[in-house]
Amino acid sequence: MAQVFPDLLNYIGGKDTPASGSRRLPVVSPLDGSLLTHVPLSDAADLDKAVQVATTAQRSWAKTPIKARVQVFFKYKTLLEKHIDELSALVHQENGKTLPEARAEIEKAIELTEFACSLPQLVQGEILEVSAGVECRTERFPIGVVASIVPFNFPSMVPNWTIPNALTLGNAMIIKPSEMVPLSTRRLAELLQEAGLPDGVFNIVNGDREIVEAICDHPGIKAVSFVGSTRVARIVYQRATAHLKRCLALGGAKNHLIVLPDANVAMTASNVAASMSGCAGQRCMAASAMVGVGPVDHIIDQLCTEARKIVPGENLGAVISAKAKERIEHYIGEAEAQGAKILVDGRHAVVKGKEGGFYVGPTVIDYVRPDMSVATEEIFGPVISIMRTDTLEEALAIENDNPYGNAASVFTESGGAARKVMEKAAAGMIGVNIGVPVPREPFSFGGWNESKFGVGDITGKSSIEFWTELKKITTKWESAARTNWMS
Ligand code: NAD
Repeated sequence: MAQVFPDLLNYIGGKDTPASGSRRLPVVSPLDGSLLTHVPLSDAADLDKAVQVATTAQRSWAKTPIKARVQVFFKYKTLLEKHIDELSALVHQENGKTLPEARAEIEKAIELTEFACSLPQLVQGEILEVSAGVECRTERFPIGVVASIVPFNFPSMVPNWTIPNALTLGNAMIIKPSEMVPLSTRRLAELLQEAGLPDGVFNIVNGDREIVEAICDHPGIKAVSFVGSTRVARIVYQRATAHLKRCLALGGAKNHLIVLPDANVAMTASNVAASMSGCAGQRCMAASAMVGVGPVDHIIDQLCTEARKIVPGENLGAVISAKAKERIEHYIGEAEAQGAKILVDGRHAVVKGKEGGFYVGPTVIDYVRPDMSVATEEIFGPVISIMRTDTLEEALAIENDNPYGNAASVFTESGGAARKVMEKAAAGMIGVNIGVPVPREPFSFGGWNESKFGVGDITGKSSIEFWTELKKITTKWESAARTNWMS
C-alpha cells in the first residue's frame, strides 16, 4: 500500500526543516494498518537549531502587546472552525478514534483557544498605594522559550492545551509531538502561520526519548510541560527540574467510579459504558475501575447491555498499535486466570475490511479483587474492572489506595454520599453522576498524586502562573512623599 503523506520534516522558523540524522519511524494508521508517513527522530543538534530560532523570535513576540498577540488566536480559532472536518479526519486517521470523537477533540481545541482569547482580561496587573506617595504594582512577563511534550491519545487537543495560552502570554514554543501521531501538530503549525503568528514563535522538533532528554537538558528552554504516562512524567519532571527548569508533568491515571444501589440505572449504565469505551479507553479521564457498593447487579446488567451496543469499527475506534492491543488483551487474560469473571469479552475483535487495524471490543470484568493487575494498573483500553464492597467507606479506601489521582466519580441520588466522595476521593477532578468529569474552561485541568508532578494546572486560569513570571514593582515619584519604615 502506498504511503499516504510525504515524509514529515521538522518545522523550524516557519519552514520544513530536515533533521540532521537519518533515523526515522513509520507512522501507521491504527484503523487499518496503512502507512501514513515517516517521522524523523531528531537529535540534540536539531533541537539546538530550533531553540536559537525560537529565542530570536520570542524577543520581538514578547515586545508585541498582548492585545495584538491575541489577534492571532482569534484568527486561529476561526481557522480551526473552518477546517474542522479536515482536522477531525486527520485525527481519526492517525489516532484511530472514531470520527465523532475526533471532531469533539477539535471542538475542545476551539474552546481552549477561545479561553486564550480572554487572557488579556485575566492578566491585568494590580496596583495599590501602599504608603503615602508609594505605589506597588504587579505585571506578568513571558518566561521565554518553552517546550511542550505531548502524548498519542489526543493529537490535536493536548497540543492545544499548551499552544494558545503559552503563546498568547508571549512565549515561543518548541513542541515534541508523539512519534505515533505527528501529523495533526504539523497541520496546526500551518494554521498558526496562516493566522499571522510570526515565524519562529512555534516550532516542531520530532523525535523520541533522545529529543525529550535534550529538551530537559537544554539551557535555552525555560519551562517544560509534559503530558504522557506516569513512568515518563517522573523522568521528565526529575530531569527538567534538575536543570532548574519550571516543569509540569501530567501522568497516567486509574479512575474509579463508585456506584451506589440508588443510582439512576439508565443514566449510570450509559455513562459508565461511555466513559470506559470512549476513545477506545485511551483517555486519562476514562473510567477504568468501578466499585459497586452493595446490591448493584441491576446496574451491572444494564452496563453489559450498553457495552454490547458498542461495536469496533462502528462506534468504537481502534487502539493505537498492535502492541497496545496485545497488552490490553493480556490484562484481560490475566484477570480471568486469577478468577475474575469476564461478562463482556472484547478480545480478538476484527473489523471486516480493516483486518490490518488494531481493535479491542468493550470488556466488562466483574468480581475483580483490589490486588489484581486490572484493578491497580492503567490498562488504556476499553475495559472496566468491577470490584464489590459492602460500604462506601470501603469503596473510598480502594480509591484512596491507588497511586494515581486524576479523576473519580460517584453515581447516586444521595446528596450525603455524593458529598462524602467529593470530600474524601483522592483525585484532582471529581464527578457526580458524570463518567468523564473534565472541567471546561475557564476551570483548569489537572490531577493529584502520581497523575501530576509539579504545582498548578496546565489549562485554564491556573496555567497563567506556569507560563509567566510575576514582577512586583514599587514606585515613588513624589519627592515630598512621607518617608516611613516602608518608603
Ligand atoms: P508516553 O509517556 O509513552 O509518551 C509521552 C511522550 O513522551 C511522547 O512524546 C513520547 O515520545 C515521549 N517518551 C516516551 N518514552 C519516553 C522516555 N523513555 N523518555 C523520554 N520521553 C519519552 O505516553 P503515551 O503512550 O503517548 O500517552 C498515553 C499516556 O498519557 C497514558 O498514561 C495517559 O494516561 C497519559 N495521559 C495523561 C493525561 C493527563 O492529563 N494526565 C492526558 C493525556 C494522556
